[in-house]
Amino acid sequence: MSIRNNIEGLQQELQAHEVTLIAVSKTKSNEDILEAYEAGQRLFGENMVQELVAKQEALPKDIEWHLIGHLQSNKVKYIAPFIVMIQSVDSLNLLKEINKYGAKNNRVIDCLLQVHIADEEAKFGFDHAELIEVLRDEALSDLKNIRIRGLMGIATNTDNEKHIKEEFYELKMLFDGIKVSFFRKEDSFDTLSMGMSSDYTIAIEQGSTMIRVGSTVFGKRVIKHFKASEG
Ligand SMILES: *Cc1c(COP(=O)(O)O)cnc(C)c1O
Repeated sequence: MSIRNNIEGLQQELQAHEVTLIAVSKTKSNEDILEAYEAGQRLFGENMVQELVAKQEALPKDIEWHLIGHLQSNKVKYIAPFIVMIQSVDSLNLLKEINKYGAKNNRVIDCLLQVHIADEEAKFGFDHAELIEVLRDEALSDLKNIRIRGLMGIATNTDNEKHIKEEFYELKMLFDGIKVSFFRKEDSFDTLSMGMSSDYTIAIEQGSTMIRVGSTVFGKRVIKHFKASEG
């Protein structure tokens, strides 16, 4: 299967749903990304700032880039001029930093708050209590150069579909609850980013509005293992 076929197949699958496809292009070449672009794909997701900046410079300027990986505060300035959405916001401090560089670039940057829904310890994101605390913080209303568009979550990496379904269900309930408690209709809190190659059909059943799909579009990623001596 070609990348073009994969994109077209996915778009066809999504037609019946109001779900946006983010093609996750991390580790993939500019040529691969262009193949997806030629098939009509414009929304791409990356998880490393350096790689994202290099690709943004090299590739067509009507690509809409989403950051989906952990972001350090000191790197916000590199992506603030062009990033369309930061899906991996996991602290109030980071929101403030994004706001600061949004203002410097005269832009409003869309953000999703990442919620920790998986069993694994290693995944980033707010727990429920932390999330509520941030949403209640009075400092939020001063941040005019960010817009909180919704939530993002990554399910546990497991074959247990029932378990994945429960995690997505829980995130959807949280999303609905937060929407009515903290946002007004005109606020466009409308994005629930959940679902990857292995679990996007479950995520869509549970109310996802945005899926982040990598290997099903581009094929498996080669994981590079570096020895310390190789730097
Ligand atoms: C890599 C990645 C994806 C895509 O993963 P696939 O299994 O290749 O679809 C989605 N979301 C995040 C946050 C990722 O880091």
